[in-house]
Amino acid sequence: MTKKVMTIWLGGCSGCHISLLDLHERLLSVFSDDVELVYSPPLLDFKEIPEHVDVALIEGGIRNEDNVEEAEEVREAADVVIAVGTCACFGGIPGLGNLFENEELLERAYVSTPTTVNEEGEPPSEDLPELTWRVHPLSDVIDVDIMVPGCPPSPDDILEAVRCALEGEEFELPRKSVCDECPREKKGKVIRSIKRPFEGEPDPERCLLEQGYPCLGPATRAGCGGRCPEVGVPCAGCRGPAEGAPDQGAGMISALASAYRVEEEEEPGFDPVELAESVPDPVGWFYRFTLASALIPFRADRGEEP
Ligand code: SF4
Ligand code: SF4
Ligand code: SF4
Repeated sequence: MTKKVMTIWLGGCSGCHISLLDLHERLLSVFSDDVELVYSPPLLDFKEIPEHVDVALIEGGIRNEDNVEEAEEVREAADVVIAVGTCACFGGIPGLGNLFENEELLERAYVSTPTTVNEEGEPPSEDLPELTWRVHPLSDVIDVDIMVPGCPPSPDDILEAVRCALEGEEFELPRKSVCDECPREKKGKVIRSIKRPFEGEPDPERCLLEQGYPCLGPATRAGCGGRCPEVGVPCAGCRGPAEGAPDQGAGMISALASAYRVEEEEEPGFDPVELAESVPDPVGWFYRFTLASALIPFRADRGEEP
C-alpha cells in the first residue's frame, strides 16, 4: 500500500524545508510509487491537513495558538511525527523571545523597527494569531517520535529520519559532542579572557575556546563535522544539547568550570567572577538555540507561566 508523507511549518523560517529541498534528485529515493507526498505548504497547493498520514515532518516550534492547533491536528493524523530542525526540537532562535513580554515583541516587530512604517503606531489587532505566553518546543504540546536537530538540519539527516520512520527503524543521533569531531587541537590550556568572535585573528590550528572565543562545542551534539570551528567560527550550538546534558547552557557552564578550569583561583590576579562578568551576551552564548527548552525557559521576572 502507498505510504503517505506530509510536511508542515509552524513557528519556523522555512529554512528546514529548504534543507529538505536541498536533497534535489535524492528526494526521489524517498518519494516513489510506494511513498506519496500528500501535503506540503511550499510544494503542494492543498489547504486541508490530511486525515491520515504515515509520517509527518514538522518544522518550527510553537509561537502562537494557530501553531498549537495545527500541531495537535497533525499529531492526530500521523503515525510518526518527526520534529525537523532546532526550532521544532528546542524552540530555536525564536525562543529568545521568551526574554520579553509579548507586548514588547509585537511593538518591536510591528512599530519600532527602523524599516517599519506604521502610521497608527499600534500592532495590528486583526488577522493576527494570538501569541502563546512563550515559545515552546514541539514536545511541550504533542508527542514527538523523532528529533532531527540543526539550524537547519542537514539534508542527509532529514533523509535518514524519513527512511527510518517509513521502515520502522530507530533514528539514532550521534552521542558525542562537536568537540569530538572538531579538527582543532586542544592543548588543555585554561581560559583567562573571553573575546568577541570578531576580535583578533584566531590561531588556525588551536581550539577556539582555549583562545577565549565563545565556542559552544563542548555542550553541543555532534553530527555536523564541526564545520563552523573548522573554518574559524565558534560553534553557536545549533544542534542543541549534547547527549546527557538536557540543558545546553548548564552543560556549557559545567564544561567551562571543569575542562577549561575557569574556577581555578591559584593564579595571582585571576578572578573567575570577573571573567564570567566579562561575557558580553551570556544568554546568546549559552542558550541561543535552546532557551525555550532550558530548565529556566524564560526571563525569571516575567512571573509564573499561566
Ligand atoms: S531550525 Fe533554523 S532553519 Fe529550521 S525553521 Fe528554525 S530557524 Fe529556520
Ligand atoms: S571548543 Fe570549539 S574549537 Fe574547541 S575543540 Fe570544541 S568545538 Fe573545537
Ligand atoms: S559547529 Fe555548531 S553551530 Fe556550526 S553547524 Fe555544527 S552544531 Fe551548528
